[in-house]
Amino acid sequence: MIQNFILEGKTALVTGAGRGIGKAIAKKLALYGAFVIVNYNGSREKAEEAVLEIKNQGGNAIAIGCDVADFEASKAMVEQLISTYGKIDILVNNAGITRDNLIARMTEQEFDEVISTNLKGAFNLTRHLSKYLIKNRGGRIINISSVSGVSGNAGQANYSASKAGLIGLTKSLAKELAARNICVNAIAPGFIETDMTKKMDERVAENIVNAIPLKRMGNTEDIANAALFLASDLSGYITGQILCVDGGMTI
Ligand code: NAP
Repeated sequence: MIQNFILEGKTALVTGAGRGIGKAIAKKLALYGAFVIVNYNGSREKAEEAVLEIKNQGGNAIAIGCDVADFEASKAMVEQLISTYGKIDILVNNAGITRDNLIARMTEQEFDEVISTNLKGAFNLTRHLSKYLIKNRGGRIINISSVSGVSGNAGQANYSASKAGLIGLTKSLAKELAARNICVNAIAPGFIETDMTKKMDERVAENIVNAIPLKRMGNTEDIANAALFLASDLSGYITGQILCVDGGMTI
């Protein structure tokens, strides 16, 4: 039998899914049968557009607003979703921001905002959802880290620290939750075409692409395909791993 709907019956929560990588992941998981919860913070209209696109491709989704950096708001969102939909099987901690600066100039606010959204946001969602995943004796957590968290990057001390922190979080949670059949993995995207990289100086971007063995920027589909694999039963014996989807950047 040909099995296309490998996520049929699963519910997935994707943070920051109104645009960019999160949106592509939400659309991909929905395309393969999951009911998808599209979280947004500032981009309500874009999140609603993403839901519409998912419905137009024959899938099912809803949008819900929440600042993942807010511990209590994250708890309220998870509780509301569980009471309405009964369960969440797949959590994708994708929400992320940059506040790049050289260390001598980096403000406390630039450091705190990045850690709060990128690292604490993933903690908040995982913290509040974990008891339900444990009760269901199964699930998937996928953290969107970065090659900056693997190799570091000048001018991104705050961002790299947050993304390296996500790798530590991923490995610890993989050990802690394995007995409950919950797999926790991270994707470390390389240089991907989204709003986040659009703001970059053209010459800097060109130099980065030249240093990538596959000689191109990644696209959001490249990341969504990896997320689909890690969300599905096809990856059931993989946990605590960091999958670099980067065209060979970190070799
Ligand atoms: P993007 O286009 O700038 O989108 C960022 C997303 O994060 C938006 O959907 C945004 O939602 C959401 N977000 C930000 N703060 C949030 C908060 N407090 N609560 C909930 N959602 C929040 O960036 P992207 O390139 O798609 O990046 C997605 C993830 O991939 C990030 O974690 C990023 O660090 C990582 N990544 C990207 C690249 C790359 O080259 N693009 C490389 C490595 C890793 P709203 O618009 O609704 O606020």
